[in-house]
Amino acid sequence: MIGKFATAIVGAALLAGCAADRDVVTEAPPQPTVTSAPVVGKPAPTPAATDPAPSLRVTGQLTQGGFIRGTASRGVRSVTLDGEPLRVADDGSFFAAFDRDADLDHTLVAIFANKRIERRIAITARDWDIERVNVARRPGGMTDAFWRIREPEWKRIVAARAEDTGATGWKQEFLWPATGRISGMFGSQRIYQGEPGSYHSGIDIAGGEGTTYVAPADGVVVLATPEPFSLEGYLLIIDHGNGLNSAFLHNSAILVREGETVKRGQPIGRIGASGRATGPHLHWSIKWRDARLDPILFTGPM
Ligand SMILES: [Zn+2]
Repeated sequence: MIGKFATAIVGAALLAGCAADRDVVTEAPPQPTVTSAPVVGKPAPTPAATDPAPSLRVTGQLTQGGFIRGTASRGVRSVTLDGEPLRVADDGSFFAAFDRDADLDHTLVAIFANKRIERRIAITARDWDIERVNVARRPGGMTDAFWRIREPEWKRIVAARAEDTGATGWKQEFLWPATGRISGMFGSQRIYQGEPGSYHSGIDIAGGEGTTYVAPADGVVVLATPEPFSLEGYLLIIDHGNGLNSAFLHNSAILVREGETVKRGQPIGRIGASGRATGPHLHWSIKWRDARLDPILFTGPM
């Protein structure tokens, strides 16, 4: 795993000098001058005299489960990744991420008043830990009885992850919430006689029951379950803003309340084995919009 991680870091470091990443800058075509048509809608803003030359800077972890952080110069009108609009903060910074199973070729486009900067973002494929086992997958599917319990839990998770709190932790370097042996890697998967099981959606950090862990980045608590959920146990979800959030599963105790603002490094919960867990550990997962991400790419090596 160390090798894989190093590759990802190198990939990111090379971004600035990658030939495939050269800006493709095209001037907007000249617009015909129309003097008699009525003015409809808002007039297009003209670039302020003080706006710098349009530019786009991007760094990140250019691999599946990774992310980009970028900054567009002042005067940017929009930034899209593969046609999907990204949220651009007042200082021009933005964030986007790549699902575990994301395609490898992406296109980032920034539109300015009279320039369009297009950049190809190539990410690397990961070599996931896939274990093929010669046993049948357990009869899948949820029973009606289980779904009656599960559906309201699932709806609360979906609603919490959709909350938009305006937190700005997405701009920060992330801390490890706890240190300890990593007992489960993000993305690992079992294949049962050719039939894939669901992959591991987070990273597991083994730790003693009751060990305190901290917020990896600033955020707002969007879910802190007062009673254990059937799978996640006591579940804590922190919104880091801009569509990025962290979930912490199997807590023995949650130390913060819904709506509370937390700071990077602040104690937020205690490790446990509540819900479906074989022993005390912290399962930490990160999502951006619908993409599942690898926490180790946010923190660097422990
Ligand atoms: Zn886990």
